[in-house]
Amino acid sequence: SDHSLQYPPSPADVDWSVHYPAFASSPKVPEFADIGCGFGGLLIALAPLFPDTLMLGMEIRVQVSQYVQDRIAALRVTAPRDTDPSPYQNVSIVRANAMKFLPNYFAKHSLSALFFLFPDPHFKSRKHKARIISPTLLAEYAYVLRVGGIVYTITDVKDLHEWMKAHLTAFPLFEPVDEQTLRAEGKGPIVDAVYTSTEEGKKVERNGGEKWLACFRRIDPQ
Ligand code: SAM
Repeated sequence: SDHSLQYPPSPADVDWSVHYPAFASSPKVPEFADIGCGFGGLLIALAPLFPDTLMLGMEIRVQVSQYVQDRIAALRVTAPRDTDPSPYQNVSIVRANAMKFLPNYFAKHSLSALFFLFPDPHFKSRKHKARIISPTLLAEYAYVLRVGGIVYTITDVKDLHEWMKAHLTAFPLFEPVDEQTLRAEGKGPIVDAVYTSTEEGKKVERNGGEKWLACFRRIDPQ
């Protein structure tokens, strides 16, 4: 349960300098959000590729979020510090229930990428409202994403893939964007990381499972 968690009342109340000390003097806020980031594989893969982009993982499990925090702290110390900013300064994590408190962290139109990688499937239909992609939550995702921003989803559960695709496609503020288009726009390294960088993605690979990618662009309905 998340009852013991303290949440910022609004994004303006978050002190990002605690998360990104090397960026303390910059007005930057997180632009990439990894929802249910698990052990942090995506963030760790993307951080060095976009050293000037702030990234935040959200993870509800205490030990797992602590692990990611320790992992980032260790990488900040051990990675060669011959770049400015030095590596992994742009990545951080909060322990949070993303289904309830996303708008407490991210201001309207502040994100350019939102990741849902191998989310929990909640197979039984009475549990579908527990899914991280649902009609109610889509309005929040559209709110925090800027026009042109991308929602990346991937899963090894075909039924969940169809569910996410159907809901996102039906939502007026998102339009499907295929993998080739994203690659042509220079987002190939992001797509590659989505497929292969996370702990869950690696497990699926070891077990010979299939991966279903579906991506969507936040559009301006005008
Ligand atoms: N994305 C990671 C990966 O690909 O390795 C983790 C996938 S794991 C199957 C799903 C993760 O979502 C778990 O770590 C779980 O604790 C987290 N999670 C589930 N519901 C959440 C919520 N409401 N807010 C934040 N994290 C959540």
